[in-house]
Amino acid sequence: MSLSGREAGRNMRRRLRGLPTIPRGKAAPRRSVAKRRWIAAGLVVLAAVAGVLALRKSDPLLPTEIRGSPAWARVYYGDPDRSDFRARKIIEIEFLGRTMLVHRKVQRHFLRLESLFEARAPDYAAAVAAGELDDWSYFNRSVRGEEYKSNHSFGIAIDVNALTNVLGTVGDMPEAIVTQWELEGGAWGGSFSRPDPMHFETHLTPKEIKQRYRPDGSPKDWYLEELSS
Ligand SMILES: [Zn+2]
Repeated sequence: MSLSGREAGRNMRRRLRGLPTIPRGKAAPRRSVAKRRWIAAGLVVLAAVAGVLALRKSDPLLPTEIRGSPAWARVYYGDPDRSDFRARKIIEIEFLGRTMLVHRKVQRHFLRLESLFEARAPDYAAAVAAGELDDWSYFNRSVRGEEYKSNHSFGIAIDVNALTNVLGTVGDMPEAIVTQWELEGGAWGGSFSRPDPMHFETHLTPKEIKQRYRPDGSPKDWYLEELSS
């Protein structure tokens, strides 16, 4: 199409839309500056909305959603500063020949840990039972050198062989136990930023523990299947 033909077509379209025609050889008026500013402003707003949505998606978890945090533990295991907490929540379990005090709702998970010691590191398990009394459990206190509550306060943590697994050291905990414990929703202090290799805590909720383990701590069939697949 020639230039004049294109201009004719342009004017026909303009007439149809009720706009004034443009003399030959002149360019069509560009969108007004105001209009372009509106479009730019619209794009900025769109980008801002998209940005906010993206940020909301990557929002950090709430403290109560972070497994193992004091806020999370309080939601699922109660307030350790309540005067009746110990009487109502804490029970004794036998763990590698030791008496451990734990929250009654984590009993199954720590019995599972005991069986991991016995099955995967029997010599180590026997040594714990025969060794020094350096294994600790429930104790309402803050984390050493910190303001916040230790998970020992909730009865959801135990310390094993403290003398050979001192805070800040590598320790001697058998890897086969640690790996499986972490796979099953437990946390091990040796993986913390300040290594605490004696320390084991559960990061499961009471409901999850009951769903996965029998009262003696053995995994239920469906969970065992899931673990071996
Ligand atoms: Zn500990």
